[in-house]
Amino acid sequence: MPYESELAVALEAVRQASALCSTAQAGLTSSEHMDKADKSPVTVADYGAQALVLNTLAKAFPDDPAVGEEDAGDLRKEENAVLFSKIVSYVQEIDPSMDEATILESIDRGGHSGGATGRFWTLDPIDGTKGFLRGQQYAVALALIENGEVLLGVLGCPNLPVDPDTPDGEKGCLLYAVKGQGSFQAPLSDLSKATSVVCDSISEAAQAVFCESVESGHTAHGRSAVIGELLGSKATPFRMDSQCKYAAVSRGQASIYLRLPTRPGYEEKIWDHAAGCIVLTEAGGNVADTFGNPLDFSLGRTLKLNKGIVATSAGVFDSVIKAVVKSSLTDS
Ligand code: AMP
Ligand code: MG
Repeated sequence: MPYESELAVALEAVRQASALCSTAQAGLTSSEHMDKADKSPVTVADYGAQALVLNTLAKAFPDDPAVGEEDAGDLRKEENAVLFSKIVSYVQEIDPSMDEATILESIDRGGHSGGATGRFWTLDPIDGTKGFLRGQQYAVALALIENGEVLLGVLGCPNLPVDPDTPDGEKGCLLYAVKGQGSFQAPLSDLSKATSVVCDSISEAAQAVFCESVESGHTAHGRSAVIGELLGSKATPFRMDSQCKYAAVSRGQASIYLRLPTRPGYEEKIWDHAAGCIVLTEAGGNVADTFGNPLDFSLGRTLKLNKGIVATSAGVFDSVIKAVVKSSLTDS
C-alpha cells in the first residue's frame, strides 16, 4: 500500500506523544505551563510531544522537514530551567535515549516554512491546549503534505471515548487516514483493533448535530446559532476543544463542525486542520472555508486564503455552505 511506512511511523509517533500527554495531564502543576509571546498557553506536554514526534520522524525520514507549532527558543532561557527539566523527564520516561540537546534540536525541527513544493510533515503536538489545561479534550495532530496536498493524517485523541455511544467507557482513540484508502479508528490501547469510520448519511440539515469550539475567541458562537436557525436545526451545538471535532464528524457523532471567524486578520494554522481534514474527507465528509472554497495547504504555515472552516458529512454540505454565506450577509 502507498505510504505504508509513513503511516506506521506516524501512528507510533502519535501513540507515544499521546501517552506523554495523558501522563502529563493527570499530574499537571502550575510550574508545568506558561504563556507564549502571543499569550496563548503552552505546557510541558506540548514541548514533550513535539520532541518525541519530530525525533521519531527525523530518524525514519531524515530528509523530511516539518512545520510544528512550537519552537525551543523559550526553553533555552535560564528562567525556564525548571519547566525544561520537567519536559526532559516526561520525554525520557518514554524514550530514555533522548538527551537534553536532542530534545531541543527535535523541537526546533518544526521550523520549516511549508509551501507548494516537496513534502513535509505538519504537527500540532497538543491541539486544544486550553481543553488540555481544563482536563478535557485535546488532540495530537500529525499530517504529511506533498506538493500542497494532505496525503496522510493521524489524530491522537487521548480523552475521546472509543465508542461515542458509551461516553463513560474506554477513552483514548487514534483516527487516521491515507489519501484514497479510507479512514480508520483504533483504541490507543491496541492499534491492531482498527475499524473503518464513515460519516453519517443524513441529507436534511434540520436533523444535523453541530459541534464547535469551547472557546468563544476561536469561533463566533452567535453566528453558528443563526446558521442553526437558518437550517431549521433544533439541537444545541456541542462544544469540544481541538480536532476531536473532525473526529466527531468523521464517525457520525456530529454532522457539522463550524469554525466562524472572530476577528478579521486571523489566519488558520495548517497544523490545526491538515490531519482532521484528511481524516474527515476519507470518511466521506467535506471540508471548506466559510465561502465554500477548498482549504489551500500550499501557502506556508497558515491557510492565508481561507476564512474559517466548515466541515460536514457530504449530504448536508451544500445547504450548510448556503446558510453560512447567508449568515454573513445577515451579519453586515
Ligand atoms: P479549538 O480547540 O478548536 O478551539 O482550537 C484550538 C486552536 O485554535 C489552537 O490550536 C489555536 O491555534 C487556534 N486559535 C487561536 N486563536 C484563534 C482565533 N482567533 N480563531 C481561530 N482559531 C484560533
Ligand atoms: Mg492547535
